[in-house]
Amino acid sequence: MDTEKLQETIDRRREEFVDTLATLVAQPSISARDEGVAECAELLAQEMKDIGINSEILPTAGQPVVYGELKAEDPDAFTLLCYGHYDVQPPEPLELWESPPFEPDVRDGRMYGRGTGDNKGQLLAHVMAASAWLETAGAPPINLKFVFEGEEESGSPNLGDFVADNRDRLAADLVLISDGTMHPSGAPLISLGNRGVIGVTLKARGADRDNHSGNKGGVAPNPAWMLIHVLANTVDPSGRVLVEGFYDDVRPVTETDREIIARLPFDPVEFGATMGLPTVDMPKEEYYRKIMLEPYFNISGLLSGYTGPGSKTIIPAEAEVRIDIRTVVDQDFDDLVGKLRAHVAAIDPRVEVLVRGIGGMAPSRTPADHPSIPVIAGSVERARGREPFVNLSSGGSLPNAVWPRVLGVPHVGIPYANADENNHSPNENLDLGCFHMGIRTSAEVFAGLAEARAEGRI
Ligand SMILES: [Zn+2]
Repeated sequence: MDTEKLQETIDRRREEFVDTLATLVAQPSISARDEGVAECAELLAQEMKDIGINSEILPTAGQPVVYGELKAEDPDAFTLLCYGHYDVQPPEPLELWESPPFEPDVRDGRMYGRGTGDNKGQLLAHVMAASAWLETAGAPPINLKFVFEGEEESGSPNLGDFVADNRDRLAADLVLISDGTMHPSGAPLISLGNRGVIGVTLKARGADRDNHSGNKGGVAPNPAWMLIHVLANTVDPSGRVLVEGFYDDVRPVTETDREIIARLPFDPVEFGATMGLPTVDMPKEEYYRKIMLEPYFNISGLLSGYTGPGSKTIIPAEAEVRIDIRTVVDQDFDDLVGKLRAHVAAIDPRVEVLVRGIGGMAPSRTPADHPSIPVIAGSVERARGREPFVNLSSGGSLPNAVWPRVLGVPHVGIPYANADENNHSPNENLDLGCFHMGIRTSAEVFAGLAEARAEGRI
């Protein structure tokens, strides 16, 4: 598919696209305190209508979803659902902004303003690419659906229900998410998933008060020791979790995964510096496997007894440890919590397992050998002139699981923002070159998916 004319259109309309972004950024949409969100939904839906996308505002139990649809001419065309969010983080502290957060200001080729990169510029890239297709060819080469959420920055509390309630309307072959940043080197990236997280507190109680460690030492139970015994029998020194069945659902590492990891950059000293260490003390494959493909059982806080100045010779009444378990795809919240409870009860039934939050955040990952992945990678390479790095899974947690779990559709992420976009921070910005390249990339992705469908590859 020749996309030269399309890219010319995108280049010619560059300033117009920047103006549209500025209009959207100028409208505050802070979901955390319901400030301007409904107004922003109206504005976005209107902008989409103006360029010919069938758009409407769909209610949820919280902030509305701006929904849009564009059909290809071919009824059997591939259907891509583009997800983004039009709400933003609160801009405070205001005094650290060099220009007001809702008065978009272009300096040195970047637009500064809350929501430029996270996520208004990135969601607009898909919309602008669709607009360029409309102008050039009269229709996009694939069916496009747009789901722009209004409460992602508040944890997407209603996205799952929204998707479940609109399953037929949202039916698609693939979900595309553009959020977050490209590789710090400026290289393009494709992201296939994320780890999940489960927050657990283990609590041990001894007597109903602290006791004198001399007078009662040896007879009063010590909850700190209870916890230490449980912890030492839960994870071995190599980090392996000893809870029975903990790894049952972890997918094996495939040959494709290994090949993808082999192409990723790895500089032990540079990577070490990002965590305040002289180096990363493990080989590249192990490093990426551990971050992307394996769960991690983390102690994030430990609390017991007296740690102030001097000494206080007590047997503490209580001990507590905070744990966050970073899960990988197919590991299930209820299953893992149940296994952990049984494990702890078998070691010391006096230690309680308390779950923090409801349900945690689920892991999700599209297999690297999914047929649409090489198509997306090829399109990104055509737009950018260089092969993207493929991130099998980000180590952190994102609300992507809704797509495979509720809609039954795989997802892929192509972040468009510069690595120093300062999202969630003062002086959030989007490099306008990145914005422009994002539009070109989306346009090329639409073309690549259409071509692959025509050839029966997807
Ligand atoms: Zn964000």
